[in-house]
Parts: sequence; structure tokens; C-alpha cells
Amino acid sequence: MITQDFLDTNITYLTGVGPKRAEFLNKELNIFTFRDLLYYFPYKYIDRTRFYKIAELDPDLPFVQIRGEIKGYYTEGHGPGKRLVADFQDDTGTIKLVWFKGGKWITGTYTTGIEYIVFGKPGVFNGMINIIHPEIEATNKQAERLNSALQAQYSTTEKLKNQFLTSKTISKLTGTLLKQIKFRIPETLPAYLVSRYRLTELREALHKIHFPSNPEELEKARHRLKFEELFYIQLNLLRFKTNRSLKFKGFVFSSVGDKFNNFYHHNLPFSLTEAQKRVMKEIRKDLGSGKQMNRLLQGDVGSGKTLVALMSMLIALDNGYQACIMAPTEILANQHFQTITKLLAGIDIKIDLLTGSSKKASRKLIAESLLNKSLHILIGTHALLEENVQFSNLGLVIIDEQHRFGVAQRARLWQKNLNPPHVLVMTATPIPRTLAMTLYGDLDVSVIDELPPGRIPIKTMHFNDSERNKVFGFIRNQIAERRQIYVVYPLIKESESMDYKDLEDGWDTISRVFPAPKYCISIVHGKMTSADKEMSMKLFKDGIAHILIATTVIEVGVDIPNATVMVIESAERFGLSQLHQLRGRVGRGADQSYCILMSSDKLSREAAKRIEVMIKTNDGFEIAETDLQLRGPGDIEGTQQSGIPFDLKIADLGKDGQLLEYVRHIAEEIVTKDPQFEDDKNAILRSEMKRLFSQHQSWSNVS
Ligand code: ADP
Ligand code: MG
Repeated sequence: MITQDFLDTNITYLTGVGPKRAEFLNKELNIFTFRDLLYYFPYKYIDRTRFYKIAELDPDLPFVQIRGEIKGYYTEGHGPGKRLVADFQDDTGTIKLVWFKGGKWITGTYTTGIEYIVFGKPGVFNGMINIIHPEIEATNKQAERLNSALQAQYSTTEKLKNQFLTSKTISKLTGTLLKQIKFRIPETLPAYLVSRYRLTELREALHKIHFPSNPEELEKARHRLKFEELFYIQLNLLRFKTNRSLKFKGFVFSSVGDKFNNFYHHNLPFSLTEAQKRVMKEIRKDLGSGKQMNRLLQGDVGSGKTLVALMSMLIALDNGYQACIMAPTEILANQHFQTITKLLAGIDIKIDLLTGSSKKASRKLIAESLLNKSLHILIGTHALLEENVQFSNLGLVIIDEQHRFGVAQRARLWQKNLNPPHVLVMTATPIPRTLAMTLYGDLDVSVIDELPPGRIPIKTMHFNDSERNKVFGFIRNQIAERRQIYVVYPLIKESESMDYKDLEDGWDTISRVFPAPKYCISIVHGKMTSADKEMSMKLFKDGIAHILIATTVIEVGVDIPNATVMVIESAERFGLSQLHQLRGRVGRGADQSYCILMSSDKLSREAAKRIEVMIKTNDGFEIAETDLQLRGPGDIEGTQQSGIPFDLKIADLGKDGQLLEYVRHIAEEIVTKDPQFEDDKNAILRSEMKRLFSQHQSWSNVS
């Protein structure tokens, strides 16, 4: 039997790779073994032989090549979306060629009425097929090199190119390797999966991904390799989840008692939203099931997660258990403590607060009352993780803004009991479904997708720098109506000094336009002492300052309902989730709030898209989804701490959502039937899981 180990052979054993080349491949591309080279996939392909007819094009095709004439140029759109368009025609139809920049050069170089060859990736816009930024070549120039089929293109680095390790060289090495070992590449999926889901065999797929003869073959190879990549990630998560639930019994919170009922009937200040009711049902079901709950609760800022947390804790208390909430900052822990104390007024429940600033005496008291069971709910920060914080019967742990905590920290909370408590993690950073399935694939997910009634949606507008006077006029009117304004400047580590210059220039301009004594302006940034910061914040909080100028350092917990305008300077430099978070600082009161995005006149396509999305929607999930499409998963908040290897080799969580759902179902079915992969036909699963995840044992242990 051929095993995968064979592929661990050092790359130096490949013909054409000496020690020097090996070193470069190691350092620049992380290629150490045969397997690494085989799995170093091309990033695109160029088909030099096949010409498509325009009528055959569809947006699912990879790079294509067509032959035809430019019929005429014109422009479409305006502002940042402005683009040059050419109608390109062959004898079967017309498509649009589109350029967002370099239009002048294009119109000067490619004339109408001459035959050209166009390469590119077909896309679709407004129901019309187009090619954005195509490569164009005169017909005669190309005729000379019509030899190979789809040519794989590999990314390389400058250093590699200097060593003559170009895309072509890599292709050659891969070809040599495949010839040497083609029949020794063992299959990595069970035979029944390969046949049931009509997948290309691994050895075939690895060959065709590097040397496809046509797009259909390539697509099949890509499908197989993506399938496998996503499948094993899901299988690992689900195996972990299943084994956990087999291993640990959960405390059974069978009844809802006096504390919950008392609160619900006498203290609840409003009726629950439908989303809150639904989520409570999901949580109650978990708590009563006899399995340990591991649930992620997602809901935008202000959606009412605290109430859900509190009611869940009351159920724990009613069943004789203690509960705790851990928040990432003292401000948030304090806020929870105050809110919850108020909500529980008149009900006989003992609550306490433990943070880094808690005094020794009160720590001692807390420690004692935890052990003698007189303390019911403990709220705090990382301080909860300290060893001397011992509960006598912790039944439920709630973690707020979980992405701010590392995996190890969360695990420490979990270990505070012999039996693991139920765990509810909450986040206000919406995570697209595909990402949640991967990041938190071993958790159950609840979503509050509805804000409490009466909130007025924030209006978002976009202005160029040249329209600044309009914005100042607007601010003046808002101040006249006694509202307050935030003005936020970006702060990026690499260009900090430039950023501070922007901030200071902004301060100068705004002080001139809004002069003292009529106007009061306050400023907060990271270079100030905390005493100065606090004083500036207080001026604004107390309603004395009309405008607060700040960098993004303004604290998360800041909640000033009277501030109704958020002006974001150089909005094009912020990521989508950051823009959305900043916008969330307004819209907290009863008045209409506004978010004003300022930018330079020239915007990259992506920046324009980000701004467009911000204007279009206030929905955090929609924004997160777009963010994922635009940036890829590696940059989304929370993924870095997750420990999940996000450098997926071929699948793309932004684009392969459907496939992900599909493989998750398949993985679910397998894990349900055979959780330990003991069945002979699943032997491959066992060995692959070991090979793939033995170094990552702990990462899915998120709670
Ligand atoms: P978050 O989800 O950001 O933690 P909070 O729990 O702090 O949101 O709730 C935000 C605000 O909405 C609070 O002032 C809270 O009292 C209020 N709230 C929560 N649920 C409801 C509801 N069902 N009806 C009206 N107001 C609610
Ligand atoms: Mg909250």
C-alpha cells in the first residue's frame, strides 16, 4: 500500500532541485517536500489554444480567449465607479470590455476596426457579460506561440525570479515531479465518497490542476481539491463537537423557577423582541437537554444581548447553580454590573464585580462568598481567570465580545469546574455564515437579527474633500439643534506621524470654522496622558464640548446618546467592519443620527465599493458578508486569534459558501454514523485527520 508519508520526501530529492534551489523554495514559498510542491497551486491559467466565441461565454469560465473587433468606446458610471467601456464584437455577439483606470492609454493604443485577441476572466454586470481589465494582443503577434494548452501561472517572488525560479520553472519542476511519482500519489478520500459525489481522483486532480488540457477538466480538479480541503476542516470541527458531547454530560437545568419568573413578570422593562424570544427558546432547549451547551450568540450592537445573558443566568440560578460573565474591558464589565444590578432590583440575588482594580479586601470577600454559595452572579474581566477565583458550582459561563479573548483564556474559564459549565459566547461583530461555520464550526449559533423597536436607522452619506463646506454647514445646523458631533481620523501604525499631522490639520481647520467661545471642541488621541484623555472625554460626555475630534482610540464603551453625527475622515482608509463599528457610536438616542464619510475624490474600486455598501445598509451581517468578499477571511476581525489555518490553499470562504454547506452536510452524516471513524471504509479519514490536525489539536476548543 502506498502511504502519504512518501510525499513527505524532501524536495532536494527532486531532479532539478539542488540545495541552493531548495533553500529558496523553503524560504520564499514554504515548499519543503514533494507534497508542498504538488499543493503549490497556480493562481491563474492562460489558454493559448482555444478561442471561445462570444456567444459561448459565461461567468463561470476561468480565463478565456476571444477574437474580434472593438466597435467603439464610451464611459459609464460616475464618481469612483466611472469606467471606460469598449463594445467588443465577433460574429456571434458583443461583450463589454471594462477599464477602471488607464483609459487614456487604452483608447490611444487599441483602435476600432482591427482584429484583436482578448484574454480575461468573464464576469457579469447588469445581466451583460463583460471582461474587466482584459489583456489585449494583436492577432498576428500571437500566432507565433500557439503550442501549449492552458498555461498555469504560479506566483513567485523577486528573489525567486533572480534565481531563475520563475513561474515557468515551477511548472517544469511540478511536471518532473508528477512524472516521477504520478502513480504513487495515494488517495486521501474514502472510495465511497469519491464515487458517490463523482469526484476526480486525487492523483488525477493534482495532475490536472497543474496541467489542465481544457477548462472543464480544470474545473473538475479544482472542485475535487476544494471539496477535500473544506471537508476535512468541517470533519475535524464536527468530530470535536460530537466527541465533546459524548464525553461530557451537561448540567440539566430542568425548570424555570422563581428568580426567572419574578424577573420576567415584575422587572422586565419592555417586551422581548421576536429575535430575543427565539434565542431564549434555543438556549433553554440546550440547558435542559443534558448536553453541555456551547452556543455563540451573534447580534449587532444594541440588539439586546445583555438581557438574553441575564435571563439565561437566572435559569442557572433557579436550578441551584452560579453563573458568571466575563467582559474584555473594565468599562464593559462595569457597565454590565450596573445594568444587571438595576434590572434585578428587588429580587433576592447576590451579584458582585471583579476586575483588575478590585481591592484586596473585596477580592477576599468574593472568594469566600463564591465558595459558600452566597454569591450567585459574578461579573468581571480577565480577573475571573485567576486561580484563586473558585466557584462552588458554576453552571453557566457567559463571555462577552469573545473575539477579544484568546482560546487559552476561554479554556481556563471552562476548567473552573470538574464538569464543564454551559457556555454562551456573545459577539457584536457579525460574522458571515461561511466564516462562522469554520471559525466556530463546533458551536451552535444563535442570531439576534432584529433591533428593539423605536430605533431610527442611521443615515449614511458620502462627501468628497472638495465638498467640505457643505459638511461644515450641516454640522453647524446640528449643533444649533443642540446635538454633538464626532470627527474621527484614521490611525495606522505605519504612518502614524502622518496620521497625527492629518489630525492636527483637521483640528486647526475645525477650530477656525467653529471658533471659541461660541463653540467648544475637545480632542482625544493616543499620545495624550490618560488624565488629559479623561478630561476631554468628560467635556464631551457632559455636553459642554460640541465636537469631539479623535483617532480610532476612542473607547468601545463610549455611549453618548446626544451625539448624533459621526464624521469619518479619510473613510477610504478604513476597513468595512471598522467603519460599521464607528458608525455604531451614534444612533443611540431618540433622534435621527448621521454618519458622514469623507474621502478624497479618487477612490480605488474597493474603497468605492466599501463606501457604497455603508450607504446602502445598516445591517452588520450584510456588511460582514461584503467584507469577506472584498478582503478574504484572513483579514476579518477574530480570525487571527482563532488559530485556524486560514491560508486555505484553494477554497475561498468568500466564494465557496455553497460548497462549504454541502461538504458540511456530508461530514455531519459521517460523524453521526461513525464518530471515531472505526468503520474500515473510513480508515482513510482517520489517518488523514491525524496527518492534518495533530498539530492543531487545541484550536477548535474555543470555549
Ligand atoms: P447589546 O446587544 O449591544 O449588548 P444591550 O443588551 O446593551 O445590547 O441593549 C441595548 C439597549 O437596548 C439597552 O438599553 C437595553 O435596555 C435595550 N433593550 C434590550 N432589549 C430590548 C427590548 N426588547 N425592547 C426595548 N429595548 C430593549
Ligand atoms: Mg453588549
